[in-house]
Amino acid sequence: MFIKALLIDIDGVLAIGGVPIPGAAEAIQWIEDQGIPHRFVSNSTQRSRQQIAERLNQAGFSIPADQITTPVVSALRLLEEQGISACRLLMTDAARSEFSEAGITEVQDGAEAVIIGDAGSGFTFSVLNEAFREINDGALLIALERDRYWMAEDGLTLAAGPFVAALEYATGKTALVMGKPSADTFLSASAMMGVEPEKTAMIGDDIRTDVGGAQNAGLVGVLVKTGKYSDRMLEDSGVKPDMILPSIAYLKDVFG
Ligand SMILES: [Mg+2]
Repeated sequence: MFIKALLIDIDGVLAIGGVPIPGAAEAIQWIEDQGIPHRFVSNSTQRSRQQIAERLNQAGFSIPADQITTPVVSALRLLEEQGISACRLLMTDAARSEFSEAGITEVQDGAEAVIIGDAGSGFTFSVLNEAFREINDGALLIALERDRYWMAEDGLTLAAGPFVAALEYATGKTALVMGKPSADTFLSASAMMGVEPEKTAMIGDDIRTDVGGAQNAGLVGVLVKTGKYSDRMLEDSGVKPDMILPSIAYLKDVFG
């Protein structure tokens, strides 16, 4: 067996909204039973890790919150390294609570960093314009993710990326990106499991963020044809997955 560990995306791979993908819970139970090291690596920033776990578990999974990594984990590490505590936060209240619990203060003026997650309908003109002014005045631009879109229950939905791009365009600055596809996200998750990156497979429905990002970091990239997957997205990306599965229900094939 050449793959020793798995990193698994959540949205579009295990579930779409609160609806589980058929066979997903059984596949996760199978890797548990086999004792295969694994972590769940999500770019979702609309909910806290605890809320993500609760929602999955209501959908029939059995996944503890501490097995889930989100970009908030990387962002908190960066803020600590840089000694930053005064921030402007563009995100949902659930994501905001993870920052305030870690001692980050939200300020209206003089922010050292502007942190952008998926604020959903909270991305209003005035909120974006205030963030633009802070970044223009020298605040660091930190993006929790820069995905283009994701598959919600009612269809494809803008993620944080398009709004990050708007602020980069306006300020001429480049965001520091915390989640997938940054190599650090994949490498620190492999390190937590104690498995070499080249023996770790990332399984996701985003050809660029999950598969391309993992391959660039030296991991094996496995694409599933559920969630936001489309033939056109695969062709346009120029990324060649190491393996394509119809869904996570075919997970055993990764070890075949
Ligand atoms: Mg996904």
